[in-house]
Amino acid sequence: MAFLVGRPLIAIAIAAVVVGVLVLVQTHRQKTPVTHRVQHVALSDEQQMQLGDRDYAQTLRENKANIVSTGPGYAEVQRVAKRIEAVAARDKPNFVWKVTLIRKNVANAYCLPGGKIVVYTGILPLTQNDAGLATVLGHEVSHATAEHSAEKIERAHLTEIAAAIVAGGVAFTPQQYIRVMALLGAGSSLKFSRSQESEADHIGLIYMARAGYDPHQAVLFWKRMLRASKGQEPPEFLSDHPSDAHRVQRIQDWLPEAEREYKPAPATTQS
Ligand SMILES: [Zn+2]
Repeated sequence: MAFLVGRPLIAIAIAAVVVGVLVLVQTHRQKTPVTHRVQHVALSDEQQMQLGDRDYAQTLRENKANIVSTGPGYAEVQRVAKRIEAVAARDKPNFVWKVTLIRKNVANAYCLPGGKIVVYTGILPLTQNDAGLATVLGHEVSHATAEHSAEKIERAHLTEIAAAIVAGGVAFTPQQYIRVMALLGAGSSLKFSRSQESEADHIGLIYMARAGYDPHQAVLFWKRMLRASKGQEPPEFLSDHPSDAHRVQRIQDWLPEAEREYKPAPATTQS
């Protein structure tokens, strides 16, 4: 009897040790760009790109008829993204950056793990100019360079997922991929924590300044967003924040740091 009673406990103990070791082996310690926060991330750059790329491919398939590939909106998104991506690539050289503009009347944009960006045309009336768009792209790209999605997995301490990641090595099998995606939710509908949102504001502000966009324009953009979003479903970058006014205040607090990083770009690109 003692054997029968003891066996499950031993099995649990062994499983706990094995999973614990796997998590230790796989998680790597690193610092976020700009804010230099120490974080522990369980996914490699390649795994993050794999997750993001699949989600991106699916989004492009589903919106095939609405992908914008000509015109002033398209040109602006490509122009601004190129400069923001060049800055972000200094922090994440492995990621492959790409942006797609989709015709849809929602004021939103997002960047998937690994560097694939989606912008909806509905945000362009609010961004108004290149610096406004740079504010949005800077924020979204920061979620990717700060590896906020990957960090979520580690934070959740889901040992099953960790074990699946280890078992899969660099690449996920389709089954592991489904399990990881189920945990994350669809990449495009990720919910970040408040502190991650605030961090993306901070990093994004520095990124836009480094890309040659006047960081003061960020404050004007956020005020426009707040006015426009009153009474509506908040887009990703307005979600789950302490308070709207507080957000603008914090961005203003980071302005001196952003000003030090700001070098105006040559004319013709900023309107
Ligand atoms: Zn965000």
